[in-house]
Amino acid sequence: MKETEVYQSLQTIKHPEIQEQDLVSLGMIEKVLVDGGTVKVILALPKLDVPIKNELIDLIKDTISRFETGWKVEVELIEMDPQRRERFFAISREAQKNVPHKRKVKKIVAVMSGKGGVGKSSIAGLLASSLKRRELGVGILDADITGPSIPMLFGLNTSPIGSEYGIIPVVSTSGIKIISVNLLLPDPDQPVIWRGPLISKTIKQFWEDIIWGELDFLVVDLPPGTADAALTVMQSLPLDGVLLVTTPQDLAGMVVRKAANMIKMIQVPLLGIVENMSYVICPNCGQHFDLFGPSKAEKTGQMVGTRIIGSFPIDPSLAVLCDTGSIENYSSSILEEITSQIIDKMPL
Ligand code: ADP
Repeated sequence: MKETEVYQSLQTIKHPEIQEQDLVSLGMIEKVLVDGGTVKVILALPKLDVPIKNELIDLIKDTISRFETGWKVEVELIEMDPQRRERFFAISREAQKNVPHKRKVKKIVAVMSGKGGVGKSSIAGLLASSLKRRELGVGILDADITGPSIPMLFGLNTSPIGSEYGIIPVVSTSGIKIISVNLLLPDPDQPVIWRGPLISKTIKQFWEDIIWGELDFLVVDLPPGTADAALTVMQSLPLDGVLLVTTPQDLAGMVVRKAANMIKMIQVPLLGIVENMSYVICPNCGQHFDLFGPSKAEKTGQMVGTRIIGSFPIDPSLAVLCDTGSIENYSSSILEEITSQIIDKMPL
């Protein structure tokens, strides 16, 4: 077996997460070494611990062994250098756009947070509701597979219907098309303890097999944090922009910087930061209290090269609407302003 033959066989391996792209064209094959009866493939990954790594190793071993039986195949993993990684994500993003129905989904906006519990899902739900009120076609893809909370915010418990052409999403009271793993599980109270590769397959299906139809905006509720799950989702969808949700405590520090760096790495525009739970208004006297001291919002925005596009107060009426599945009924001038800015940043 010659090196060129190994390359030819590697060209037949399509990346399981990236539409119609093989490992060679994605720049993932750093080197092939053929020695005696052994083939060694040096595989470059965007990050060493991507969940899909074992699946890729198995695919390479199977394919080469089928090509030339009896040979020993070894796979060594290395991390891509920044240039190669940049190229990899650029190809991957272009490829995701080629999914046929992407043409009917005009903009995909992801809502991200550096950590859990900051109100990411609530902001995703609010943004979708506010876009819907403007008579736009809106969908929500709940990509927070292990902590799906979108159905609860919208009071949904029906299952999506399967059809010959794909799965039809559930539609909320105001007409938002919604898909979430919680709507597909027989018992929504059971925890989802899936491993990385299964999570990424589910996201891929949520994008490719759901009949989204014509949409102006698809809002994606990302998994919290900057670990693998979020990266996998971002890589599997052709995002047009990311909105970062934080609380004032995070604004000072590393959490925001890490999240912003991850967005930069996958080369998707950071639309801005929404600061959630940043102050309280006294229900009796209307006084504004900065619970966490003076806002650091502006300074943090400058640090990561973006702007704070809105600050939400802690609002007990929002908490009640979220708990009762009526998030669509919440409206405020701050929400409307954030929505307008997002539409401005992503003209249809
Ligand atoms: P995350 O998605 O970041 O884990 P969630 O959106 O699920 O966070 O929010 C966690 C809880 O906080 C929810 O019960 C929601 O009702 C509440 N919450 C979020 N933002 C606010 C806010 N601005 N005021 C009051 N309650 C809020």
